[in-house]
Amino acid sequence: MTHNNNIIKHLFLFILISSFFGIFYFENQKASGTAADADRINRQPKIEEKIITDKKKNIEIGSGDTYGVLMERAGIGGAIANNIYEAAADKYDLVKIRAGRALELIFEKDSDNLKELVYKIDSEKEVSVRNLKYFGGTATTSAWMAKVKPIDYEVKIVTKEGEVKSSMYAAALENNIDERAIIAFANAFQWTIDFAMDPRIGDKFKFIYEERYLDGKYVMPGKILAGYYINNGKRYEVYYFKETEDNAGYFNAKGNSVQKMFLKAPLAFKYISSGFTTGRRYVTAFNVSTGHRAIDYAAKYGTPIRSVGDGTVIFAGWNGPYGNMVKIRHNGTYKTQYGHMSRFAVHKGAKVKQGDIIGYVGSTGFSTGAHLHFELVKNGVKINPLKEILPPGKSIKKENRDRFFAKIKKWQKALK
Ligand SMILES: [Zn+2]
Repeated sequence: MTHNNNIIKHLFLFILISSFFGIFYFENQKASGTAADADRINRQPKIEEKIITDKKKNIEIGSGDTYGVLMERAGIGGAIANNIYEAAADKYDLVKIRAGRALELIFEKDSDNLKELVYKIDSEKEVSVRNLKYFGGTATTSAWMAKVKPIDYEVKIVTKEGEVKSSMYAAALENNIDERAIIAFANAFQWTIDFAMDPRIGDKFKFIYEERYLDGKYVMPGKILAGYYINNGKRYEVYYFKETEDNAGYFNAKGNSVQKMFLKAPLAFKYISSGFTTGRRYVTAFNVSTGHRAIDYAAKYGTPIRSVGDGTVIFAGWNGPYGNMVKIRHNGTYKTQYGHMSRFAVHKGAKVKQGDIIGYVGSTGFSTGAHLHFELVKNGVKINPLKEILPPGKSIKKENRDRFFAKIKKWQKALK
C-alpha cells in the first residue's frame, strides 16, 4: 500500500514538473526567438515555490460586485476584510476595484490563514496588502500593511520579423506577432514612416521586445526595445533608451531622438493598419499634374484625426468643397489642413499638442466616401508631406552618449 502510494506520489510530481516545463517549452517555441533570446529570460518564474508554500485564490470581479461582497463570498471574515480595507485606504481605495479584474488572495497552505491580498490597478501597478505576521512580524502581530508597487512580470525578450506582401500589419499577423506589439512597434516609427502611404512590397522589419508573463502565462507585450523597418530599400532603426528617470524614448543609431516636429500621418496606425494595402490603392497621393496637392486617407467614418504637430487652430468651420475643415498654424513656416471632417474636436484659437484629436473622419463637402483630405503648407505653398524632410530630433546629451552606444550594441548585433 505504502509502496503504491509512493508510485502515485512520484507520478504526480513527474506530471506536475513535466507540465511546468512543457508550458515553457511551448512558449519558447511560440516566441520563435533566437537561442540567445531564449536564454535572456530575465527572471525565472517562481511557480514551484508558490505551489509548495502558498495557496492562491483568484476572485474574479463581476459587474456590480463590491469589495465587501467578494470577500464574504471568498469566506473572509468581515473583521479581516475591514482591516485590509483600512490598511489599503491611503494607498488605494478598494471601493474602486473594477469588473473584469480579480482580487488575488494568498493563503498559508497549512493554516488556510490569509497572508496577502493583491489587486492589479492597471497593467503596470498592483496594490498588495500583507499580514505582517507572515512578512517579518512576530507570530502575534496582526497588523496589515499596504504597498503599491510595479507588477512583477516575468519578462522574456523575443525577436520577431516579417516581410511586407500587402501591409506591415498583415505581415506581422502572418508571423504570429501580438497585435498590441505591432501597434507599439509602428508607433515608435510614427515620426518616420507613414504606414498608410510608404510601405512597399518587399519591405522588411525586425524588432526585439519584451513579453510579459505571470505565473508562466503570457499576459501582454511590454516595451519595444529595438527594431528596424526597411522601407523601399532604406533602413530606419529605433532603440529604446532611458536618458534620465523621466526622459525615455526612441532614438536612431546615431543617438538622435526619432521624435520630430510632425507625425508622418494624421491618423494613428491602429486605425489605418487593416484598411490599407501597400501604399496607393485606396488613397490618393500628392500629385502636382492632377492638381491634387494633398493626401487622402481612406478611413472609417468617425476615425479620430490628430494634429501632426503642436500649434494653434486658426480655422475650424465650413470651407466649401473641403466641407468641415480645420487649419493649424505650427510656426512661421508650416500649416496643416484637414478636410471632409464629420465633426470637430477643437475650436478656432485652441492650442493643440502633437497627437491631439482635432476632429473625426467624415465625407462632408465634395467627397464621395469617408476619408481625410490632408494638406501640408510651407510658406503659403501646398507641398508633398511624404517628401518633406524635417530636421532631426534632439540628440542624446553628451554625458549619456557612451551609455547609449554601449547599450544598443547588443541590440544591433541581434538585428543584423
Ligand atoms: Zn483630397
